[in-house]
Amino acid sequence: MFAPLSPAAQAELLRSIVERSRPEPGKARPVVVFDLDGTIFDNRPRTVAILRSFSATIRGARPELAEQLDSLVPAEVPYLLTDTLARLGITAEYDVKTLRDHWVSCFFSDSWMTHDTALPGAVDFARTCWNRGASIVYLTGRDLPNMALGSFASLRDTGFPVGVPGTALVCKPDPAMPDEHYKRDVCPEMGRVGDVIASFDNEPGNCNAFLEHFPSAASVLLATQHMPGAPALQTGVDIIADFRF
Ligand SMILES: [Mg+2]
Repeated sequence: MFAPLSPAAQAELLRSIVERSRPEPGKARPVVVFDLDGTIFDNRPRTVAILRSFSATIRGARPELAEQLDSLVPAEVPYLLTDTLARLGITAEYDVKTLRDHWVSCFFSDSWMTHDTALPGAVDFARTCWNRGASIVYLTGRDLPNMALGSFASLRDTGFPVGVPGTALVCKPDPAMPDEHYKRDVCPEMGRVGDVIASFDNEPGNCNAFLEHFPSAASVLLATQHMPGAPALQTGVDIIADFRF
């Protein structure tokens, strides 16, 4: 677990990024890059909604299992689904496989992202950077074929700047591509948009990649959740709890 900056130090860091969001004459436009899942969005409510949708279909035949699923709350959802199910006491192989198949078919599809909630301060921070003149890139491991439209709608409906000049939603072209390879490969491409001044991600490996490619930009880790077995965080990556500033 990574220890975030104090609320005061977090606010100071975020305000310094807002300050740097103002374009300067003769220079490339500042760019702020945001990951989606675990960074500006809490996707744990999506998992809760998906498991409840399953419980609704089995309540008559499997009341105990339905009750276990219904007891889940977003704050108690770990990174891996198997850990979530184990926490609920669901470990029978058949149940785990059936639930996993249902979860996969929903979680990675457009229509369920409506359950995601924005991290505290995230909408205000992104809007403030954009209002100052920075371009905003949402760079996500969500895939273009199955998740881009739901992502766009979710950004729009939660109030993030999207669908306006100076914003882009960049998705993984192929669902089968591992997220960390994709991000590492595509992150230098963010320089096409302008001068990257800050990037935000909840995966230590992605934060390290951004720090390597854009050493003068702020690379910031959200201390939410990350993939088990993640690499150590490189010195120079800042850690924040949310986007309140
Ligand atoms: Mg993420």
